[in-house]
Amino acid sequence: MSAFGAGRQMLRAVAGRGWRPRSSKPAPSAHASRPGAGFSFELTDEQKEFQATARKFAVEEVIPVAAQYDKTGEYPLPLIKRAWELGLMNSHIPESCGGLGLGTFESCLITEELAYGCTGVQTAIEGNSLGEMPVIIAGNEQQQKKYLGRMIEEPLMCAYCVTEPGAGSDVAGIKTKAEKKGDEYVINGQKMWITNGGKANWYFLLARTDPDPKAPAGKAFTGFIVEANSPGIQVGRKEMNMGQRCSDTRGIVFEDVRVPKENVLLGEGAGFKIAMGAFDKTRPPVAAGAVGLAKRALDEATKYALERKTFGKPIVEHQAVSFMLAEMAMKVELARMAYQRAAWEVDAGRRNTYYASIAKAFAGDVANQVATDAVQIFGGNGFNTEYPVEKLMRDAKIYQIYEGTAQIQRMIIAREHIGKYKA
Ligand SMILES: Cc1cc2nc3c(=O)[nH]c(=O)nc-3n(C[C@H](O)[C@H](O)[C@H](O)COP(=O)(O)OP(=O)(O)OC[C@H]3O[C@@H](n4cnc5c(N)ncnc54)[C@H](O)[C@@H]3O)c2cc1C
Repeated sequence: MSAFGAGRQMLRAVAGRGWRPRSSKPAPSAHASRPGAGFSFELTDEQKEFQATARKFAVEEVIPVAAQYDKTGEYPLPLIKRAWELGLMNSHIPESCGGLGLGTFESCLITEELAYGCTGVQTAIEGNSLGEMPVIIAGNEQQQKKYLGRMIEEPLMCAYCVTEPGAGSDVAGIKTKAEKKGDEYVINGQKMWITNGGKANWYFLLARTDPDPKAPAGKAFTGFIVEANSPGIQVGRKEMNMGQRCSDTRGIVFEDVRVPKENVLLGEGAGFKIAMGAFDKTRPPVAAGAVGLAKRALDEATKYALERKTFGKPIVEHQAVSFMLAEMAMKVELARMAYQRAAWEVDAGRRNTYYASIAKAFAGDVANQVATDAVQIFGGNGFNTEYPVEKLMRDAKIYQIYEGTAQIQRMIIAREHIGKYKA
């Protein structure tokens, strides 16, 4: 067995040892006899092991090559293969399909560590989770075995195709349509900003199936699984983005693409709820990615502040600098608690939309604030590509945009919050 295979087996063994899939609730016996029973910040041994494996991979293998991938924009395939071998991607695929069946909480712990290494790599890996999640929450046994099973057999990528050139935040405004013809659907339309767009083996795709413009969103759209090699699919050029440059983002055109009716998720008209429902499980990991970036910025800034001297002493001894570090640390800690709460809620089987949006919005803002402060602490060096924090500042911006912008998260939080008062 290769070293990669051994690593994967190790995580499997960890997951098999008393692991409770889809739940991160502490075992009752672990806490029942202690004060504060049922509430603990202590990670389980298994969780610590997942975290340590991801941290080691990020520090030893991702960080040394991250700047080069950022410079070239090359897709980090060797790192993705390695993460797959180590069991650090697709971790939430159910055990029935050969996966580890981890909860959102554990996936988040892994994601934070990967993001600490490079969020371009983490987003490529996260793109898989986003593409897979509709199949996990709504796929039937056959669909899950076929499409999730192959992700376990080989290091393949998939993608979530919802956004279009004319509609991002306003998902109900998408124009891609699917028409039923016999036992197939024929899909026509254009998707935009699709992570892993040029690397995916299959796509989750949202299309309008009810042409009536008055049809409610909850009935007008259908979710499909589409093989990426289907005739009629044209993948656009790789977009050159501000940050996370090694992640693959593309537009995709669908022209008379035929999809068998077996690839419809749940049923015609169920697509909007599936596409939106996936976010409850994917926004906490996105928030965890933002925390990983912020933690990296804090670490880099702290180390620099201890070494760099002005006016005869290390800059960390100037109170203005140490207080900046204190603010950064506060934000990292609180953003981490926010994603852990959101993940814990959904793993406990509760609706977590409110917490998922709080975590995503807060951590996205924190990543940007902390990365900007890190650049400030580095002074002129912070503005230069030879130092790591310039990349962090560019990479951070997307956390306020994808998987629902900072404004859309606030709309959701406000709706959920105010709804409680009206109920
Ligand atoms: C690198 C990258 C990767 C991505 N990956 C994927 C992917 O894998 N799959 C996918 O489907 N999509 C993906 N996206 C798309 C992403 O989710 C959208 O860009 C995002 O949802 C915003 O949509 P938009 O770009 O159309 O902006 P718009 O919706 O046009 O918004 C423009 C601005 O208006 C604000 N705004 C819009 N409506 C309101 C409102 N009602 N109230 C207040 N403010 C509002 C927004 O917050 C934003 O600031 C990706 C995007 C990028 C850049």
